Amino acid sequence: MNVILLGPPGAGKGTQAESIVKDYKTVHISTGDIFRKNIKENTALGQKAKEYMDKGQLVPDELVVELVADRLSQEDVKQGFLLDGFPRTIFQAEELDKVLLKNDMKIDKVINIEVEPEVLIERAVGRRVCKVDGTTYHVSFNPPKTEGICDHCGQELHQRDDDKEETVRNRISVYTNQTKPLIEYYTKQGNIANINGQQKIEAVFEEIKSALGSEQ
Ligand code: ADP
Ligand code: ADP
Repeated sequence: MNVILLGPPGAGKGTQAESIVKDYKTVHISTGDIFRKNIKENTALGQKAKEYMDKGQLVPDELVVELVADRLSQEDVKQGFLLDGFPRTIFQAEELDKVLLKNDMKIDKVINIEVEPEVLIERAVGRRVCKVDGTTYHVSFNPPKTEGICDHCGQELHQRDDDKEETVRNRISVYTNQTKPLIEYYTKQGNIANINGQQKIEAVFEEIKSALGSEQ
């Protein structure tokens, strides 16, 4: 099963992706995670991406599209993939359609997680992420068992550089202008499911599971 997770920053895409990949046989592809890994390893791609990410802007389409096209040509994605944070512009969606056609693949479902802007800010500002395995927590809504420590690997949690309130507001307006039009794009393709993201994490996952059905 091939799925796209769509939604504004802080909607819960990464959190739901963790549950989806446990229950379904899909490979998680998060463009944000790929960029953050490149920044940590100080690669040329990481250095370029950081300039945009720190300001809350999108990384230029050409850098992202190539990266995803490469990833989708690898063997493991044949079992199914979950795109998280891609596409983010109409151009990226059109390029993705071309890559899918070329590889004889299709998207089975677009999961669109809907959350109001004020809630998004509260979520993003309180987000804490494990430096080592990337598990996502929230200081109030999804706290770790021990403050500041990852439940899974015992390593320290940290706050993302782009989760400062000012930058989050910027990312939300970038979402509204550049990414939101994708809802109409996929509605026209007829495979979108709109999910109420303003429920408990488990309830959101239940709604996603009903939308995905028993497909594997
Ligand atoms: P995204 O990947 O869409 O940016 P995340 O999954 O990282 O979003 O979630 C953003 C923050 O909100 C995290 O701190 C996460 O723990 C928290 N969160 C995710 N889903 C919910 C929810 N349904 N209710 C409350 N907090 C949530
Ligand atoms: P969130 O969903 O919380 O905004 P992500 O981890 O998906 O977080 O993205 C973080 C940042 O990485 C974005 O603000 C943007 O700068 C960059 N980025 C990630 N995916 C893309 C993409 N598909 N196109 C352009 N920039 C991207």
